Amino acid sequence: MLTRRETFRLGAAALLVPALARIAPAADEPGFTLPKLPYANDALEPHIDTLTMETHHGKHHKTYVDNLNAALKPYPEWLKKTPAEVIANLKDVPEAIRMAVRNNGGGHFNHTAFWTMMAPAGKTGKASDDLAKAIDASFGSMDKFKAEFKDAGVKRFGSGWAWLVKGKEKPLAIVSSPNQDNPIMDGGLPPLLGVDVWEHAYYLKYKNLRAAYIDAWWNVVNWDVVSANYANAMK
Ligand code: MN
Repeated sequence: MLTRRETFRLGAAALLVPALARIAPAADEPGFTLPKLPYANDALEPHIDTLTMETHHGKHHKTYVDNLNAALKPYPEWLKKTPAEVIANLKDVPEAIRMAVRNNGGGHFNHTAFWTMMAPAGKTGKASDDLAKAIDASFGSMDKFKAEFKDAGVKRFGSGWAWLVKGKEKPLAIVSSPNQDNPIMDGGLPPLLGVDVWEHAYYLKYKNLRAAYIDAWWNVVNWDVVSANYANAMK
C-alpha cells in the first residue's frame, strides 16, 4: 500500500509529466547546432580559401555536431549543457560514449571558438595594450610569440591544435593537443587563441605545407577577440 507521501509524489509527478513533455525538445531535435560563420565563406580569401571554409564549416564542423548529438541522444540531460560544460566533465560521461563525446564535443567546441578567432584581413583589430604586454613578458616580443606558436602547430604530429592559454609561471603559455582535445579537457581554461592544424584546415590550398598555412593564417587572426578572451581570462 502506498504511504501518503508516496501518493503525493506520484501525484506531483503525474502533474509534471505533461508540462515536461511540452518543453522537452522532440526526440529527433538536435541538442547542439552548427553556429553560423561570423563572415562569408569567401571573406578570409586569399589566406583561407572559400572551398576550404565551405568544407571545413559546412561538412567537418557539421559532422562533429551531428555525431555529438547522436552520441548523447540517449542521455538528454547532457544535451542541455554547453559544449564547454560537456568537455570539462568527460569523466562523468557514460563510458560507452566517452570517446565519441571527447572527439565530437571537442570538435564542436574547438571549431566554434576557431571561427570567432579569425576575421577578414583589414578587420582583424589589434592586440590590446594588456595583451601586448603579456605577450612581451611571456615570449619576448610579438614576433617571437608568433614563431613559437607556429612551431607548436608545425610540430604537432598528425592532427591537432596549437593554443595560446593563460600561463602558470608567465602570463601566457603555448600548448598543443592531439585530435580534437583542448586545454579545457585538462582542467584548464578556454584557450585565448587556437590554430587548427588538421589537414582539412589547409590541404586544398596549401597541400602538405602546414607552415605556409600558418604563416598566411596570421593575416586573419582576430586580435580584438583574442584581446577580449585575454581580458576574460584575467577576471
Ligand atoms: Mn578543423
